[in-house]
Amino acid sequence: MKIAIFNNNVISSQAITKDLTLALQKNNIEIDNDEPDIVISVGGDGTLLGAFQHYVDQIDHIRFVGLHTGHLGFYTDWLASGLNELVNSLVHDNSQKVSYPLLDMTVVYESGEQYHFLALNEAAIKQPTGTLVADIYLGDQLFERFRGDGIAVATPTGSTAYNKANGGAVLHPSLPAIQMSEIASINNRVFRTLGSPLVVPQGQEIVMKPKSNHFLVMYDQCDIKVKNITELRFRVADQQVHFAAYRHVNFWQRVHRAFISDVE
Ligand code: NAP
Ligand code: MN
Repeated sequence: MKIAIFNNNVISSQAITKDLTLALQKNNIEIDNDEPDIVISVGGDGTLLGAFQHYVDQIDHIRFVGLHTGHLGFYTDWLASGLNELVNSLVHDNSQKVSYPLLDMTVVYESGEQYHFLALNEAAIKQPTGTLVADIYLGDQLFERFRGDGIAVATPTGSTAYNKANGGAVLHPSLPAIQMSEIASINNRVFRTLGSPLVVPQGQEIVMKPKSNHFLVMYDQCDIKVKNITELRFRVADQQVHFAAYRHVNFWQRVHRAFISDVE
C-alpha cells in the first residue's frame, strides 16, 4: 500500500506532516506521491479539495483520508491527536471505503470543443460586474431565463459549503443528486426565476446557456479561463470519490458539529 501526503503550508500542518512521515516510515509503509493508493490530506476541508483536484485523474483507485489541523471538518475525520490511531488503521487496512457523488461539468466552446471537469464541492458561474443573463434548461426544456450574479451547482457533500450560503438545502451524501442554487437573482414583475434551490437526480442534466462572456467559471478552488463558452452542462458524475472509512462519522452529526454545536 502506497501513501501520499498532501498538506497545506500552515506551520502546524507541516509539523504534523513530518510526524506522520516518520510514523509511516517506522511502520514500513511506502510513501509515493505519484501513484498512491491512499492520499492523506493534512490541513482543512480546502486542503482536501486541493488534494482531490491534484489526483483527479486517479480517483477511481484512490481513497482519501482527511487529517485536520484545526477543528474537525466535513472531509476531515482525524485530528493530530489521533495520529497513532490513524497509522494503526493504515497498518491494518482492509480496503474499507465510503463513496460519495461528484459533479460532472461539461464546458462547450463555440468551436464545438468540450471539456469535462469533476468537482467535489461545486461549480459556480458568476459575473462580478453587471448582470449575468443565461437560459437554464432542465434536460431539453427551457426552464427559465436567469438574471443575477450567478448560480452554483453543488454535490451532496458540497451542499454544506457555498450552496448553503446561497440558501440551498443540506443533502445527505447517500443521495446521487446535484443541487442548483441562485446567487442574487433579479426577481420582479419583468424578470422571473424559480427563486428556490433545485435538486436534480442522477441521469438528468442542468444546462446553462449564457448570453454573454463576462462571467467566471469556478469549480472547487479552480477556475477556467472563459472565452467563447456557449454552454455549461451539469450532471451527477459517473465517477465517485472514495474515502478510507476507518471510522464512521454520521453525516448529520457532522452537520450538527459544524453548524449547531461543537459539544456532543
Ligand atoms: P475557504 O475560504 O477556506 O472556504 C470557505 C469555508 O468553507 C472554510 O471554512 C472551509 O473549511 C469551508 N468548506 C469547504 N468545503 C466545505 C464543505 N464541503 N462543507 C462545509 N464547509 C466547507 O476556501 P477553501 O478552503 O479553498 O474552500 C473552497 C470552498 O469555499 C468552495 O468550494 C466553496 O464551497 C466555498 N466558498 C464559499 C463561499 C460562501 O460561503 N459564500 C464563497 C466562495 C467559496 P476549511 O476552513 O476547513 O478549509
Ligand atoms: Mn479553507
